[in-house]
Amino acid sequence: MNLQPKTDNTQPGKVDLRDMSLSELSGWASSLSLESFRARQIFRWLWRSDVTSFDQMTDLQKELRQRLSELYYISSLRPEKIERSQDGTKKFLFALSDGNHIESVLIPEKGHYTLCLSSQAGCAMGCRFCLTGKGGFKRNLKTSEIVNQVLAVQGALPDEKLSRPSASGGNEASPSAPERDAAPGGLTNLVFMGMGEPLANYENLIKSLQILLADEGCGFSSRRVTVSTCGLVPQMEKLGRDITVNLAISLHAPDNETRNFLMPINRTYPLEVLIEACRRFPLPQRRMITFEYLLISGVNDSPEQARALAKLLRDVRAKINLIPFNAYPGSEFKPPPPERVLAFQQILIKNHYTTMIRQSKGADISAACGQLHAHVVYGSQRGEEVV
Ligand code: SAH
Ligand code: SF4
Repeated sequence: MNLQPKTDNTQPGKVDLRDMSLSELSGWASSLSLESFRARQIFRWLWRSDVTSFDQMTDLQKELRQRLSELYYISSLRPEKIERSQDGTKKFLFALSDGNHIESVLIPEKGHYTLCLSSQAGCAMGCRFCLTGKGGFKRNLKTSEIVNQVLAVQGALPDEKLSRPSASGGNEASPSAPERDAAPGGLTNLVFMGMGEPLANYENLIKSLQILLADEGCGFSSRRVTVSTCGLVPQMEKLGRDITVNLAISLHAPDNETRNFLMPINRTYPLEVLIEACRRFPLPQRRMITFEYLLISGVNDSPEQARALAKLLRDVRAKINLIPFNAYPGSEFKPPPPERVLAFQQILIKNHYTTMIRQSKGADISAACGQLHAHVVYGSQRGEEVV
């Protein structure tokens, strides 16, 4: 069954309130001489409940609701399709208001869920191994489109207890919005590892992070939100100054020659520049940068390359995730045999790096790392649809 998209499309002449950060809303509220708590009150309604109209904001005066609805609207996303992998991973396909498609992937882990978010429709970075990259770049996602992925997943699977904080909780607001079970666990972790390069959509990324982390917003812990980048050094430095979240680097090679072959961005910011920026990245105590290292047979999986990687990351607070390459139809690469993956890991462990082998989940529904491409030809996909 395909679900009918009920995406609230853009409304001509009106501004989407879900594109506004709390500080923008506060500025707007004071420009209208509204009481200062109104901005927080509206912000809570926007991000802690499923409201799609101002009439649902029951603790705002009717006149204010009317004024709001003349100038603003509230966007939402509804999944067009949900597929379930045998391992429990679920992939959500969303149609955007302009016809572009994006995907988000919900991954069950021990005691909680992780949601993998898209930041762009497509990607312009052109990494040689990545299916998203091969599809080319469509456009940046708006702030609302990034955060609405979280609300849509929480709303689509209420049985999973993907709890979110309720809209109530402040002294001045007492909304009657349906509150969700505050189940322990639930959706606690977010990773920007879906479609797109988050740091290439910097402004909207930061605004969406502010909303995701705000107590009055989605209330995620900064310890549980990770931004992954192919290595846009200036934006990485800015991210470190602007907000506290976890950083993951898609490294994939220990030398410039191999990395140039795999990732065009390396020609602009070569390894020595990237690693120096990692050394300088402001990390809270006891936190590390995660280095993602895709293992591709015959390209970057030799013992010498493992030793070179260990040397490269010396003096960096690093943990390493090894990801055997996920093949897809027509891919030019193959994953190494398991014993070669283990040998690579052993060398890094001997060099005192925390090193995990990350078996990508959801490969049977093309939801694994690098397999996202918002394929809308449903007949060609496998996997069981849910809802
Ligand atoms: N653009 C950002 C965020 C996307 S994260 C980045 O590159 O970091 C997607 C992750 O999946 C990246 O680490 C990417 O390198 C990895 N990836 C891409 N194609 C893959 C594939 N075929 N198999 C396994 N991992 C892949
Ligand atoms: Fe873009 Fe990341 Fe894929 Fe590279 S790996 S093409 S940066 S999504």
